[in-house]
Amino acid sequence: MAVADGELEDLARRLVAPLRTGDVVEGATLVAITGELALQYDFVHGDARACIEVVPRHGARAERVHTTHFALGHRGGSMHGRAALALCAALAEQIRRNEDAVIASLRAAPEERVREVRGGAALHDDGGHYGLSPYRGCSIGCRFCYAQSRLQPLRTLLGHAAAPWGSWVDARVDLPELLAHELATRPCAPIKLCPVVADPYQAIERRLRITRRCVEAIAAADRPWPTLVLTRAAAILDDLALWAALPRAWVGVSLPTIDDDVRRRFEPRAASVAERLEILARFADAGVPTFAVVQPVFPGDAIALADALTRVTAGVVLGPLEGEEQAGPAFDAFAEARTARWQADRVAELRDALQARGIAVWTGELPPGVTA
Ligand code: SF4
Repeated sequence: MAVADGELEDLARRLVAPLRTGDVVEGATLVAITGELALQYDFVHGDARACIEVVPRHGARAERVHTTHFALGHRGGSMHGRAALALCAALAEQIRRNEDAVIASLRAAPEERVREVRGGAALHDDGGHYGLSPYRGCSIGCRFCYAQSRLQPLRTLLGHAAAPWGSWVDARVDLPELLAHELATRPCAPIKLCPVVADPYQAIERRLRITRRCVEAIAAADRPWPTLVLTRAAAILDDLALWAALPRAWVGVSLPTIDDDVRRRFEPRAASVAERLEILARFADAGVPTFAVVQPVFPGDAIALADALTRVTAGVVLGPLEGEEQAGPAFDAFAEARTARWQADRVAELRDALQARGIAVWTGELPPGVTA
């Protein structure tokens, strides 16, 4: 396997050098440089926060600030739009000085399905909670997964040949050690192992056990870090005892339909509907609070789904489809389900059915009441 050094984070740093964390730009302090779905630069000014994302310009959504190779945009944060735009412009100026040399230095890495990567920050500050991703790229390969269109331009930038979503994984093999250090030194906040760039219990986890070692690091920390995990994979049951022993843990599964034939069309390599319900039932039996995420919603009996979830969990997150990605052919058999109207109606139907059964339907990033 090839070994690379925290390459996206390293690229992010090199692009804006000599700027580094702690420096002040346009009156705001650069507090973090990370790389996951994009190259990301976090700034704070007083109580206001700005997250500036830098993505390859080719294929990027229209952004107001760009360089020869990159587009810059402001994602989330509480900073006023004009101030965030000024930060984008200042970062762009710095990137223009570096980008040609940095891009010329990038060499194609050997193409391998699983690459071991090292370095980078373990915990990504997502404003109020941390994201933790043991893998980048996901062999479950759901056709609608929005991560694919975000990650592929970054892989191309790093010199890797295009490869179908689901065929490659970057494994952060030293993440447990990096995490243990950060657990001892960073402010306590909820940690989410919830797929943004990869499922934490995809197949490679059974060989590498990076997720397991991260959970062990959280268990060994001297503070009780609230920790959430979300998966579509039955391998999480291997770690049931470990999660059950954490003082503040929540375990969730994504379940977009009760119909396993429909599930197979969209998520052929994910756990079956029955397996996912069993995951929730077994963790609930072990005393671990559980939740389910229904997003997007796929065809199937919504009332049967609400009934099934009511038996195994007390909290559900609902959301509509946010883009078909490569799932177009799967949707061809369910033309209505791809429309915003159908998605909104089905979310409303599920919400009503769940609430009528006493299930909490939450809308934020964390279960109600979960704080540091
Ligand atoms: S399991 Fe999650 S991260 Fe993996 S492909 Fe499916 S939606 Fe994407």
